Amino acid sequence: MSTVSGKTQVVGIIGNPVKHSLSPAMHNAAFAACDLDYVYVPFFVTPENLGNAISGLKALGVCGFNVTIPYKTDIIPHLDYLDQTAEEAGAVNTVLIKDGKMIGHNTDGDGLVCSLAEDLDFIPGDGTVMLIGAGGAARGAIAALCRAKSQRIIVTNRSVDKANALKLDMNRIYPEVCIDVINANELNKSALSTVTLLVNTTSIGMNGDKLHFLDLSMLPKSAKIYDMVYSPPITPLLYEASEIGMLVSNGLGMLAAQGELAFNIWTGITPPKGYMKRVLEGLCGS
Ligand code: NAP
Repeated sequence: MSTVSGKTQVVGIIGNPVKHSLSPAMHNAAFAACDLDYVYVPFFVTPENLGNAISGLKALGVCGFNVTIPYKTDIIPHLDYLDQTAEEAGAVNTVLIKDGKMIGHNTDGDGLVCSLAEDLDFIPGDGTVMLIGAGGAARGAIAALCRAKSQRIIVTNRSVDKANALKLDMNRIYPEVCIDVINANELNKSALSTVTLLVNTTSIGMNGDKLHFLDLSMLPKSAKIYDMVYSPPITPLLYEASEIGMLVSNGLGMLAAQGELAFNIWTGITPPKGYMKRVLEGLCGS
């Protein structure tokens, strides 16, 4: 990192917790690689301080920030505008502060679509994508998949009402996309046998836990498996799927790709291709 001076531009991340975040190291390395006088700082924010923290960032002249768990939807009322990605997802992971206005973006979904192409050679289209989960990450993912012309998406979640709400929201914008909802505890062979790509958007796997409601043997062998979790690098889902010969990827490529898009929103510059992913691989020892 270059020396911080009075001219250094500040960006950061707000969340609770944030100390585990790899984004500061990834962005600061990319600022240095691009010779940009920026610094990226983690900010731990408690829920009762969210409004004050956001006003404070603006008052201090911070030029943008990332938003992580649990504030990706709670931040929306504090912003002036949403771009298309955030509007469609109903979730924000990147904010640009420009001319005194705060503009929310969602780079998670497009980051996923980039990583699917690079890491699994998967381009949305005719196949069936199954999303496990219906939280903030699933919202960004489904909106980006619809923009990228996915034809059929199945959303499966423990709380089926959240999955139904997601389907309704998305079909209002993309009525042409066939979106089905299945209760996670009722997954069956007739649904699973149609899946081309399965994406875990839940946090299951972070602690070595398994998606107990999913029987991978019901999927076609040709199905590709993406886990948004990247720590540990090989989750039980990825281990089991690769054992039966399926093509798999963890979420490190998505983390890098959403970071590249956020970096570009703040600076107008794209870091050298693959640079952020290599930084992350170095940090994760993969
Ligand atoms: P979130 O809004 O809290 O949603 C969590 C989802 O996981 C919900 O659908 C929830 O189901 C489900 N879930 C959690 N625990 C479960 C359990 N024990 N059994 C069944 N379902 C369970 O969180 P999020 O923002 O979507 O983030 C989810 C994950 O994605 C996190 O691990 C995050 O780190 C990861 N992520 C990765 C990237 C990346 O760049 N790789 C980017 C964004 C997010 P209910 O609705 O039933 O509660």
